[in-house]
Amino acid sequence: MTPARRAEILIVGGGPAGSSAAIALAKAGRRPLLIERSAGPHDKVCGGFLGWDSLAALARLGVDTAALGARPISRLRLVSSRHSVEARLPRAAAGLSRRTLDEAMLRGAASAGADILRGRTVKAADPERLSVRLDEGESIEAELLLLATGKHELRGAARGRDTSGDPVGIRTPLARSAALNRALDGVIELHLFDGGYGGLLLQEDGSANLCLSVARARLKAAGGVDPLIAELKEELPSLRERLDQSEAGAWSAIAGVPYGWRAKATEPNLYRLGDQAAVIASLAGDGIAIALASGRDAAQAVIGGVGAERYQQGFASRAARPIAIAEALRWAAEHRAGREPMMTLAAAPLLPGLAARLTRIGG
Ligand SMILES: Cc1cc2nc3c(=O)[nH]c(=O)nc-3n(C[C@H](O)[C@H](O)[C@H](O)COP(=O)(O)OP(=O)(O)OC[C@H]3O[C@@H](n4cnc5c(N)ncnc54)[C@H](O)[C@@H]3O)c2cc1C
Repeated sequence: MTPARRAEILIVGGGPAGSSAAIALAKAGRRPLLIERSAGPHDKVCGGFLGWDSLAALARLGVDTAALGARPISRLRLVSSRHSVEARLPRAAAGLSRRTLDEAMLRGAASAGADILRGRTVKAADPERLSVRLDEGESIEAELLLLATGKHELRGAARGRDTSGDPVGIRTPLARSAALNRALDGVIELHLFDGGYGGLLLQEDGSANLCLSVARARLKAAGGVDPLIAELKEELPSLRERLDQSEAGAWSAIAGVPYGWRAKATEPNLYRLGDQAAVIASLAGDGIAIALASGRDAAQAVIGGVGAERYQQGFASRAARPIAIAEALRWAAEHRAGREPMMTLAAAPLLPGLAARLTRIGG
């Protein structure tokens, strides 16, 4: 039997959480090994909205979002079946595809000195022995394990939450068009409907990203993604207009998104990051910021010799308020009784900025 490979710090998952930890650790002179299952650039079911806290955290990590072509966003447009309201965001935000962002972060981690293993999947983890098993059977033993697999559960280290009632995320790109560009320039548009909402913004290549969060029951009742979109086009004239202004690509989906979940405990030497640490409702557009903040906190804990349990408890309390407020906003967006008052409030100066501030984990 071949002896297991060894790594001082092993990071599983190369999204914003795993990569930000890898960059911070490598910059501090450590040499983490990061394993990412995608072999190259890939899209994710994500709205691609970068709030000001994400932009600030990325700048600190040396990721130049403007050079990557991120599209500036200064306004929020909320759209329901009845009307639409617009508000200025308190600070500058941006739209960038995850394909571009995640690659740039992995490049940043590699150039800072982290070892990156691409195109390999970790099949299972043994939190007690701090070892993982890869797709081809090979094992790696670590002194510290940083789990950053996003929404995906890793056998042996799963969240243990029943996600069968949790919402489904669906996403499609909309091809670049002059009409879409005019309609969405400088704006994040949120289309609200019973049982869900959809975010729409321009990306660096001029295409738009349409990403929806939908209650599983609503998707099931509609009979799938295509019939759901047909229903929504009837309900939401503005969404129909956007879809008519362009050509939609193929839909991708992720089921069982555990909004509201926080890891309040962990095993010794196992640090849970990003969506493995806390999952904020996507309506807040702050999941990437939480992932980046957890990567930074975990790296600082490792560098400072702070144990995994203390890091995890600290991060869970840091994420508590943003997550609770985002859950309340999600409830309001998805129910008629909350939606119209929310839109009235959104039209009032200062309130959208206040809500946006309260769901931020910190710049
Ligand atoms: C519908 C929807 C819309 C959203 N829109 C926004 C938005 O607009 N703005 C925002 O800030 N947040 C948004 N979010 C949240 C955001 O996408 C996540 O919070 C963020 O991606 C979490 O980052 P992460 O690094 O923890 O996980 P991920 O980005 O999911 O990265 C995890 C990585 O781990 C890899 N991986 C997984 N399992 C394994 C394995 N076993 N072995 C090796 N590699 C593995 C994956 O390939 C992936 O690259 C949205 C979420 C949803 C569901």
